[in-house]
Amino acid sequence: MAEHNFDVVILGGGSGGYAAALRSSQLGLKVALIERDKLGGTCLHRGCIPTKALLHSAEVADVTREAGAVGVQATFQGIDMPQVNKYRDGIVDRLFKGLTGLVSAKDITVVSGEGQLVAPKTISVNGELYTGKNIVLATGSYSKTLPGLEIGGRVITSEHALQLDFVPSKVIVLGGGVIGVEFASIWRSFGTDVTIIEGLPTLVPNEDAAVSKAMERAFRKRGINFKTGVRFQGVQQSASGVVATLENGESFDGELMLVAVGRGPNTAGFGYEENGIKMDRGYVLTNERLETSLPGVYAAGDIVPGLQLAHRGFQQGIFIAEEIAGLRPAAIDESGIPKVTYSEPEIASVGLTEAKAAETYGQDNISTYEYNLGGNGKSQILGTAGFVKLIRRNNGPIVGIHMIGSRVGEQIGEAQLIVNWEAFPEEVASLVHAHPTMNEAIGEAHMALAGKPLHAHA
Ligand SMILES: Cc1cc2nc3c(=O)[nH]c(=O)nc-3n(C[C@H](O)[C@H](O)[C@H](O)COP(=O)(O)OP(=O)(O)OC[C@H]3O[C@@H](n4cnc5c(N)ncnc54)[C@H](O)[C@@H]3O)c2cc1C
Repeated sequence: MAEHNFDVVILGGGSGGYAAALRSSQLGLKVALIERDKLGGTCLHRGCIPTKALLHSAEVADVTREAGAVGVQATFQGIDMPQVNKYRDGIVDRLFKGLTGLVSAKDITVVSGEGQLVAPKTISVNGELYTGKNIVLATGSYSKTLPGLEIGGRVITSEHALQLDFVPSKVIVLGGGVIGVEFASIWRSFGTDVTIIEGLPTLVPNEDAAVSKAMERAFRKRGINFKTGVRFQGVQQSASGVVATLENGESFDGELMLVAVGRGPNTAGFGYEENGIKMDRGYVLTNERLETSLPGVYAAGDIVPGLQLAHRGFQQGIFIAEEIAGLRPAAIDESGIPKVTYSEPEIASVGLTEAKAAETYGQDNISTYEYNLGGNGKSQILGTAGFVKLIRRNNGPIVGIHMIGSRVGEQIGEAQLIVNWEAFPEEVASLVHAHPTMNEAIGEAHMALAGKPLHAHA
């Protein structure tokens, strides 16, 4: 068996793995990156990028429908799904080429094939051994299903949903989390009749309660149906459709059912546990230096318990490379990771929800303020509704920012700086926000919380 030696051997070329590879190489380390499919992983090929391309087509469809209201004569004639897919694939292909170029320019050895940990510091691929002074595990995640719920035929996951070459007439979306609401939003804009089934009491249940409520209102207004707080029981498929039943006896029919009940860690069968790595329900456990129970073996991305987001994976990959190179980077504060749900409307949040802040500091020790986008000029121009909600510790910094409305995802940058830099409302209130932008809403909210509201009614 041929044997190859590196400073760092990385298993999985998705967000976590390729970020670790690029940063390791920048730091002068000799790197091997093992990937069984395509560099870029879920985010580039089956996640963030293709879904956001579809959401853009969806936005153009909505804008076209509503063009008359702003004096533009346009007629919405329908969705040309092959063209939507061509547009999406063009974006993915360009980014893939760019990434491949970045990786090859860095002199990283890319190994194609499925790898398996065969010793604590050795991965076997295609019968060859790759030994690293350090190993990084970044094998990502897969679409989960429920016990007894089989994927196949008209019961699909997000991977299949992205490949459809037609607009379904009626869809049941099982799961009202990020992936479920994003697809519901896309399909509704494309003209599909959508019903979301969510077992927890609200849509987007991980968000601040005010945001979840506003999301439900917005979806209701858009004609997206949903059933919350009731458990799914089963689904029957026929040649023409599916019928989903709930535990309360209700049933819903559709042409397809999307199962969006979360993602599980992709770790089975790769030799992790067999080599002594401590795991919990398939996830790889690490300390805050992202090192597993095996010294010199690190893990990044969706296989590490926590938020399954691409930017978390990037940051972890960079962190691990710097740790290996001896730079002793500051540990990543998971509570400061920003989240965006890219549906219409969008949701963007960072830091603690009001409930979590009350639990952490006591309800009497926090204050909140909701700035309604009704007072924001640019939001009125765009015709969107929503708010920016702030949570602060009394006489202390902002600990949570929660936003809902069209395009608010673009505002998350300032929000995450405020929370992660532990800014006080009084400090943000003195910074100038350009007019008219949606970004002003963040400034206005801080002005109001600092006791000097400008365009705020409450
Ligand atoms: C529909 C959808 C939409 C999403 N939208 C967003 C979004 O808008 N924003 C966001 O931040 N996140 C989003 N995500 C989540 C994001 O895609 C993931 O958090 C991110 O891709 C995780 O990166 P990773 O490196 O852990 O894993 P992955 O990106 O899954 O990469 C793992 C890689 O490892 C390879 N691999 C696995 N096992 C082996 C093996 N044994 N040998 C060799 N190679 C192997 C796989 O082929 C894969 O390329 C979305 C996910 C989905 C499904």
